[in-house]
Formats: sequence, C-alpha cells, structure tokens
Amino acid sequence: MINVIRELTRIVQAVAQSDSAAEQVDLVVNSISDVMAVDVCSLYLLNGAGDAVLASTKGLSKTAVGKVRLPAKQGLVGRVAATRHSINLADADQHPDYVYVPETGEERFRSFCGVPLVNAGEVLGVLVVQQGVGRQFSEDEEAFLVTLAAQLAMVVHRLPKREDEAKADAAAMTQRLTGVKGASGVAIGVLRLCGEEDVAHAADAQCEDVDAELAQWYELLERARDEVERERKAVEARLTEGVSAIFGAYTLLLSDAMLVDQVAEHIRAGCALPTALRKTISQIEEVFRAMDDPYLKARCEDIHQLGNKLYGLWRNEGGIKESHDDTQPVVLMGRQVGISDIARVKSGMLAGIVCYDGSSLSHSAVLANAMDIPAVMGVKAPKRVSGGETVIVDGNHGVAIVNPTDMLVSEFQKVADEGKELSAQLQLLREADSTTPDGVNMRLYTNTGLLADIAPGLNYGAQGVGLYRTEIPFMVHESFPSEEEQIEVYRQVLRSYRGKPVYMRVLDIGGDKQLPYFPMSEENPALGWRGIRFCLDNSPLLMTQVRAMLRASEGVNNLNILLPMVISGSELDQFHEILQDALSQLDDEGYKIQTPPVGVMVEVPATISQLPFWRDRIDFVSIGSNDLSQYLLALDRNNARVSSRYDHIHPAVLHEIQRVVNTARILHLPISLCGEMASDPVAVALLMGMGVTTVSMSAPKLLRIKWLVRTLPVFHAEKITAMALSMDSAQEIREMVRRELCQLGLEALFSA
Ligand code: PEP
Ligand code: MG
Repeated sequence: MINVIRELTRIVQAVAQSDSAAEQVDLVVNSISDVMAVDVCSLYLLNGAGDAVLASTKGLSKTAVGKVRLPAKQGLVGRVAATRHSINLADADQHPDYVYVPETGEERFRSFCGVPLVNAGEVLGVLVVQQGVGRQFSEDEEAFLVTLAAQLAMVVHRLPKREDEAKADAAAMTQRLTGVKGASGVAIGVLRLCGEEDVAHAADAQCEDVDAELAQWYELLERARDEVERERKAVEARLTEGVSAIFGAYTLLLSDAMLVDQVAEHIRAGCALPTALRKTISQIEEVFRAMDDPYLKARCEDIHQLGNKLYGLWRNEGGIKESHDDTQPVVLMGRQVGISDIARVKSGMLAGIVCYDGSSLSHSAVLANAMDIPAVMGVKAPKRVSGGETVIVDGNHGVAIVNPTDMLVSEFQKVADEGKELSAQLQLLREADSTTPDGVNMRLYTNTGLLADIAPGLNYGAQGVGLYRTEIPFMVHESFPSEEEQIEVYRQVLRSYRGKPVYMRVLDIGGDKQLPYFPMSEENPALGWRGIRFCLDNSPLLMTQVRAMLRASEGVNNLNILLPMVISGSELDQFHEILQDALSQLDDEGYKIQTPPVGVMVEVPATISQLPFWRDRIDFVSIGSNDLSQYLLALDRNNARVSSRYDHIHPAVLHEIQRVVNTARILHLPISLCGEMASDPVAVALLMGMGVTTVSMSAPKLLRIKWLVRTLPVFHAEKITAMALSMDSAQEIREMVRRELCQLGLEALFSA
C-alpha cells in the first residue's frame, strides 16, 4: 500500500526544487510510475481543439510525445476529459470507448486508470496509469492519482504552449490576461514593455534618417565602451582575473567588426537602431551556438548580455521616445511600472498600466489611481509580445486584452468614450452639493496617500479626507521616515484641507502592504503582524508618527486619528497612553496642540461586537469594507485565483455592515465607510439605505457618486436595501440594484 502522504510530500518537494514547468511535469510522471510500480504513466494535455496530445510519458515510446493526438471526446482519455470523472478498469480493451494507439509502441495494456487534470474549472488534460496485467487499481492508488493530478494541474497551468502551436497562435491570438483591479476605467492603447531591457524585445521599426541613426550607433558604442571601462574600474579590485577578463571581452566585442559593421549594415538597409541591434545580436548568438567547443558555445550568453547593455543604454538616452509613436495612447506593461517608465511617455499619452506583479495597493496601482489611468495588476505575462501590439485595459474588471479583435476594440472604445463623456458632464457637478432629492446631506470624502492625490481630491470637490493611508509615504522612502520628514508630508495634507476633516490612519503595514526596507516573512501575513499590532509592538515608531501627526496639525486642527485592525480594548488603552504621552511631551516642548478625535476601522469581524465596550475610548468608526469583506468571506482580496469570488456586495457583508450601522446609531458614534464599496454605485445605494451618510473614495469616483446621491432619494434607497437584505446572492442583489438605478436614469454609471 502506498504511503500517500509521504510520497506526495516527497514528490511535491522535488517539484518545488525544479524551476521549469516542463521538467516538473516529467518529474511527476516519472515519480508516479516509480511509486505505483506501473508499466506506464502518461500525461495527455488538451489543445485548443480539445484533442488530447501526449505530453509526457514513462513507459510508452518517447518519440510519441507531442505526436500522439487523440481526437476530442474519443477513447478512454477523451471520455475522462469530457466527463471530468476518473475511469478505473481492469480490462480496458473491453470498454466500448477503448482505442488502440499503435504510435505509442504500446502492447495492449489491460488495466487503465485515468484521472482528469482540472485547474480553476478548466479541464487541462488527463493523467493515465496502465498495467499489462489485468487488475483494478485500488482505491488508495486512485486517490493518490487524483491528488497528484490536482498538483499537476497547477504546474500544467504554467506550462508554455508547444512551440509550433504557440507560434501559430501568437500571430492571431487574442490574449486575455486576468488580474485584479488596479485603477478603474477602460483604455485602449499601444503596448510598451517596461523594465525589460532585453534586446530580444526590441520592436521592429524603420529608421527615417540613415545618417542620423548611424551616428547614434557609433555614439552608443562609444558610451558603451566608457560604461564598461567605468564598471571595470569600479569592481576590478574585488574580482579574480578570470572574472575581470569578461570586461576585456566586452571591450573587444564592442570593437569587433562582426558587431559594429553588421548593425551598420542593418541600419543602411532601413532598420531603426534597436531593430538592427536585435537582429545582429541574434545572428552572432547563432554563430556561437553552432560552435562545437562548449566554452565558445557558452559565449552566446556574453553576446546577449552585451546586446542588453547596448539596448539598455539606448533606452535610457531617451531614444524610446523617438522610436515609439507617442501620437498614439500608450499602455505600459511590465513586471512593475515605475515612475521613470511613466515619465518617458509623452505627457497626456499614457492610456493604461498593466503589471505582472502586485495588487490593487501596489505602488503602480496607487500611481495609476492618482493619475486616473486605468490599471490592471497581477496578470500573467503575455506570450510573445514585443511592443506595438494593441492592448485594451479594463480596470473596472481587472482584465487586459492583448491583440484584441476589431470587434472587441470597437466595443471597448465605446465604453472608453462614454466614460470620457460622462466625466466631462460630471464636471458640472463639482460645485454642486451632495444632497439627496429628499434632503439628506451626504458627506463625500476622498481616500489619499500620495501628495499627488491632494489636488485631484480637491478638484473633484471632496469635503474632506476620509482615509489618509500613511503607509504610502513610508513605502516611497528608503527607511522609516523621521519625525520631521513625516511632519512635512502630513502638514501639506492637513493644510490643503484646512477647515475640512482629515482622517489619518496610523501605519497599517503587514499583510499585503510591505515596506521594501522592512521585509516580513510570515506563514499567513493576512492574519499576522499588521496594523495596530505592529504599531504597538514598535512603540517608538508609533510615538514618532503620532508626534508628527500632532505637530503637523498645530494651528490647523482638522486631524482625526484612525486605528487599523483593532480587536481589543487593551489595544485602545495602549494607544491612548501613547497619545497622552505625545500630547504632554509636545505641551512641555511648547506646542499648542488640540487633542484629536480617535476612531477605529471596522475591518476585522471581531470589532463589530466589541464596539459598545469601547464607547468611551473612541470618537468615531470607519468601515474598512475591503478587509471586512476579505475576513468575513475568508477570501484574499488580492489573489487573482479567487478574486472573481470576492464581492463586497455579498449578503454576509451587507448584513454585517447593517449591524455596525445600527450599533453606531445606538451608541451615537459617527460612522463612515472608506473601502472600495464607497466607489461602487450599487454599494453606495445600499449604504444610503442602511443609513450611512459619509463615504470616502478615490477622487476620480467622487462626481459619479455625487450624481447618484443627487438622484436617489433615501426613502427609495431604503426600499432597495430592504429587498437586498432579503436576498442570498450577491449577483442577484447587484442586478436588482442596477435595475432600480437604471430606472432612475443612471445607466451611464454602469456602461461608462
Ligand atoms: C479597508 O480595509 O477597507 C481599507 C480601507 O483599508 P486598506 O484598503 O488600506 O486595507
Ligand atoms: Mg484595511
């Protein structure tokens, strides 16, 4: 009998040590064959047409890999894929679906057990074991296979397509990249890859002026030689002779006719410099790759590195502006998109941002929000793109589409145009008040974190800052900012909103918000050292921050302090002690500071029942619906794999929010909401119906929400909310609320 746990652990550990997904697949297939002592273990993967193609095997002829193709739904393999059910047979050839495949070189194996590979609901392939003798595989063996198939599905999901298929697909392929929302809105633009100074990614471009391009090339060579020389000098003392020789090799290569003349030739033939460089480097690499001597063969790498160096230098000299047609909107895409990437795009031409890394709170997303540019985070890198492709960025749904069909472009163009039109019309509401048709005054605040956010908030008519995320100034720093540095930033925010309230949250790092200079590695960061726990455990840091907030508020007196992730009264007591200490220190130092109101975020479910016990220690509450939904639903809000299940309209979230609102009403505690819900018209309609009158959102959403508030009477919102609270499906609630709002003439809130 197989020790399932032990074998599984061993296989999973071995898989984790291998970098390549293809290697991992072979490893699993070989391991299964060994552990189960079967004659054959094979993996079939489904191609686009649904045919099962043999992808890896131990026991069948290796030459059959990639060649054997079982048409969709045919044979036992096809049946497993179609029904998504395992088949376990002692006499496979007696089964009506059995098909003999001679190319595999197989004798007739009598027993067969096949299990489907399913990832995120999609059948990716079938894992099969076969045995010459006719025997039924045991339940244990079948369970073992099913468990490994689940592991394997995750590996296969990352597997690049077979070269030939991928090539065929790539030309015409529309790639849909699903991630998480970074910043809302829809944009269409031309792809520009960022942070990928790999010469292989240089786009195809023609040069307009051969002489100017040649001059640029010779100048680039000169600069590269200087750079190599500088690098050599900088590291010489620390390197062994063998390693430092590489600089000599680079210098030689930089003067080598093979490189210098070949690039010049391509330029004379009409190529732009980066294109000429890419072609030349790839030709020289080929020459080295074909050499028999392994040492020379490996020099390919040096050539490529040199190509990257030249390409990198060329990009940094601003050539990128000249080669890309910045008369077209640009979509920046890369692992991360930084300020320097953005700065290189001609002003007004940045249409969207797509990142392979990151979440809605990543720096790139924060920047995108501040600039009102649609952004999508956490997508898989697209295959075979080099820049210049058309990309749709749908920040409303967290999706980017590379190489979209014309029909898709025109559909999304409509949405983007309507969005622009709506924004233009909404500008007229900037000065208007945010009162409902039945006379209820709603306060619309903005969430900020960057100084760059201050102006948009004010421009859109924010009546205050409902959430100032102080972790952002901490994130853009190289170390914890000093008291003076913090004062500088906080003062600008408080003074810009003079006469209006600013709710500043103490440092809320941990979980998905990490500081680059304070890495934390935790098994389960969402439930770890974060928010107020981190602050109280680092009380000197908290003291510095509280002092900075208080000093920044001197004379402005609009500061409110917000505490994240509070779960117990003792945390409040400890905070008040620090606050009192800070106030008396500052008093002693001669500052005239008003004691600010202190409140808690309601974002951990535990907080809800505790509010009555904290009444004398808090002055207000603010619902953090992002974390509250995450913790109520046990769904990581930044995990693209489950993001489609995450919805703050989930009835469980709505019921809990109603409970918080009722509690706050009884306790006479002012209440607001500052999560993403405040930007979602469906959610705001429901919040209005629950009695929430203060919401805080990203600045670009303010006018849309103001339009909603000015159109929807509270008595109508109350009816909608009552209906919603009697329903048990987020989707149905959404549809119902949308219908109601559309009937009031607000459909543009959803279509644009
Ligand atoms: C929240 O959790 O809803 C919230 C506003 O805080 P953050 O998104 O910064 O965690
Ligand atoms: Mg939060």
